[in-house]
Amino acid sequence: NRLSISDPIRTNDILRKYKLRAKKSLGQNFLTSEKVLNEIVDASKLKSDEIAIEIGPGIGALTEKLAEVAEKVYAFEIDQSLIPVLEDTLSYYDNIEVFNEDILKVNLDDFVKEHHLEGKTIKVVANLPYYITTPIMLSLINSDYPFQALVLMMQKEVAERITANPGHREYGSLTIAVQTQMDAKIACIVGKESFIPRPKVDSAVAVLERLPKEKIDIEDPEFFNKLIRSSFAQKRKSLMNNFLNWLGRTDENREIIKEVFKDCEIAENARGEQVSIEQYKKLATDLQQRIK
Ligand code: SAM
Repeated sequence: NRLSISDPIRTNDILRKYKLRAKKSLGQNFLTSEKVLNEIVDASKLKSDEIAIEIGPGIGALTEKLAEVAEKVYAFEIDQSLIPVLEDTLSYYDNIEVFNEDILKVNLDDFVKEHHLEGKTIKVVANLPYYITTPIMLSLINSDYPFQALVLMMQKEVAERITANPGHREYGSLTIAVQTQMDAKIACIVGKESFIPRPKVDSAVAVLERLPKEKIDIEDPEFFNKLIRSSFAQKRKSLMNNFLNWLGRTDENREIIKEVFKDCEIAENARGEQVSIEQYKKLATDLQQRIK
């Protein structure tokens, strides 16, 4: 018969009891919507033999919901003053471990080994601190441990970028960094009124699920990344121009690029945002062979 931590009455009680003021610098906006929390947990499809890693548990609103469905929850919170709060609010659960750590300094691959979690299905579920969404997301995607799913609340605009299709303004290097590894969808849009205090921007819950191995087939990731970076170096210029800036503005390079574009069915005046990931993969392979 307890009130959920996310109930606005209970959240305010906790904040008062511990004399907490949400720290803007740490992106502290506490979720107070049961509905949104349920949507996050549903989107994670967590099962009772699976592990949840949470980033930034705050006062525990999402943590308690995860503990109800997962075998175990490991949560990383940078703010030391929240640790005794979490001990109190989550005392009812015996399957939660909270670490007072900066997630950007935690090596999750080592963590997985140290806790003997290899072979387990591990999902990362978080209402992220927005000021470090991108570095956290990219390090999770590129970590050695293949986290099966990432369910991440983030700024709406970032969610739109990572789920964009070619031909859209939001489609860019971040889209490609994510979608070469993960299937990315938006589960729901979340308004400012779902948080205490209210953030300045709207949010969205993004669901990233790892693609099957055979679909993650980039031959030379280093070259691919260089190619993507130069493709979007100057977003309003054509791909041809961006490549010439990268490779050198010679007649020979222009001819090579033209031929490779033809093979990949890319128009000579195309811009980076019009090219699909499959086309970029072929482009990278072809171009690398030709410029050797
Ligand atoms: N999970 C809670 C909720 O949904 O109500 C709080 C989410 S709040 C948007 C982000 C949380 O991340 C805060 O508790 C903040 O202190 C924590 N945080 C910020 N930077 C962090 C970092 N580098 N490592 C770990 N936690 C961090």
